[in-house]
Amino acid sequence: MTDRVTDREYDVIVVGSGTCGATLARELARRHKKVLILEQGQDHTLRETFSSMAAVTKEYSVGKDLKAATAVTVGGSTSLYFGVCKLPTAETYASLGIDLSAEVAEAKRELPVAELPDQFLSPQSLVLRKSAAELGYKFKKNLMLVDQSKCDSGRYEYDARWKAKSYVEEAVDFGATLITQAAVTRVLIEDGRAVGVEYKHKQGFMRTKLCTARGKRIVLSTGALATPKLLIDCGIKNIGDRGFFCKPAYMVCGTVPGLQATDTFVGNQDIELGKGFSLGDGAMSSLLFKLVMLANLKWRYLFSFSKMLSMGILIYDSMGGEVGKDGSFRKQLTAAELQKLQDAEQIAIEILKNAGARNIFRTKLMAGIPGGTIRIKEHVDENLQTDISHLYVCDHSLMSDVMITPTFTLICLAKRLAKHLSASLQPSQARSAPALKVVARAS
Ligand SMILES: Cc1cc2nc3c(=O)[nH]c(=O)nc-3n(C[C@H](O)[C@H](O)[C@H](O)COP(=O)(O)OP(=O)(O)OC[C@H]3O[C@@H](n4cnc5c(N)ncnc54)[C@H](O)[C@@H]3O)c2cc1C
Repeated sequence: MTDRVTDREYDVIVVGSGTCGATLARELARRHKKVLILEQGQDHTLRETFSSMAAVTKEYSVGKDLKAATAVTVGGSTSLYFGVCKLPTAETYASLGIDLSAEVAEAKRELPVAELPDQFLSPQSLVLRKSAAELGYKFKKNLMLVDQSKCDSGRYEYDARWKAKSYVEEAVDFGATLITQAAVTRVLIEDGRAVGVEYKHKQGFMRTKLCTARGKRIVLSTGALATPKLLIDCGIKNIGDRGFFCKPAYMVCGTVPGLQATDTFVGNQDIELGKGFSLGDGAMSSLLFKLVMLANLKWRYLFSFSKMLSMGILIYDSMGGEVGKDGSFRKQLTAAELQKLQDAEQIAIEILKNAGARNIFRTKLMAGIPGGTIRIKEHVDENLQTDISHLYVCDHSLMSDVMITPTFTLICLAKRLAKHLSASLQPSQARSAPALKVVARAS
């Protein structure tokens, strides 16, 4: 049976409440648009605990022995991400085919984007930095999406990392409707125009209802692992025709007696040698460390956090592999890419050993979220509209620059789309938008 969620027609239906969906919903709702957010996950209270992380994490295969992780919850993948913020560059704009500088300036004013002062660096980060410097490698601090005012004396706080859930909450405060456990299965198209979506709404333990919702504009922000399939089902051609990139990565770890490691923010500094790979500081929180050891069946080190020194290695892989008609991802790393991993691993081992690390081991290869499957000016126009009128895409599928971290750029893309949609939905324009909250800035 198909139920209509409401007779009301929304201005915009935003599918997915991650980085892009949350930003879009917030920007549109504050401009007085009638916004419906459909999110397949629940509205979990986000905490850095085993049960909380396990409840939201979903892994997808993107190749043989290669998996990527995302989060299914209100706020999407930012409930798991690290908060590293590599800003878009001229190359990013060139590869996207659009300029985001106005939105970058706006987002910088609203978000806590700053390097972490030395007072935030853990003993393990300082040891790593010193060891690398002795060998001629220079760690550079990254900008982080971290509200430092929440970190008393530089203490690590999971809540200090910016998360898209806060934007969903703002959107709802501005009048947006959020329906959780609502998995969109189909875009409704009439006369070549998107008019709504069909979704499965989980109601209670066993019951799922098939519902529809109608909107003047439909935006797919379901994330890079879900959007290609929804578009393929709409008949859009050539999705993922050049494959994808997915920044394969793993960690190299070793024990240093007496290190006295403490909880800290992952990825706050890294070494870029311009050789197609990056060497990151693998310092993290003790909870995340335990999860990594469990996932890698390294029982022996489960309680060795205080003496563990780690580096993360990541390669900037080329576009390749394929996206199947069923939305599945398949990629095999080339010999050159495997060699880059080897080269990076050798440097990591050198730095760890110089710091006195023993018992060196590596974790299994993981992929980042696949990028590059949908291209602006090919699959969508400059305003992110597909060939199907009123159907838009705004999420990680559009990421075109392998060299940057995606979240900040995605926030800017969503801001840009919100301006376009707002302008194209004329009638309720009269009132001005209320001021936005500015997240406390770095101290
Ligand atoms: C472990 C990890 C670490 C990361 N670290 C960083 C970092 O340090 N810096 C950085 O910039 N980025 C990082 N990222 C990547 C970043 O989190 C993502 O690029 C970004 O959040 C993607 O945003 P999105 O809007 O495309 O999708 P998401 O945030 O993934 O949101 C998609 C949402 O859509 C929902 N959804 C999916 N299908 C449906 C459907 N059919 N119906 C309804 N809802 C649906 C999902 O449940 C989800 O909530 C990391 C990611 C992970 C997993």
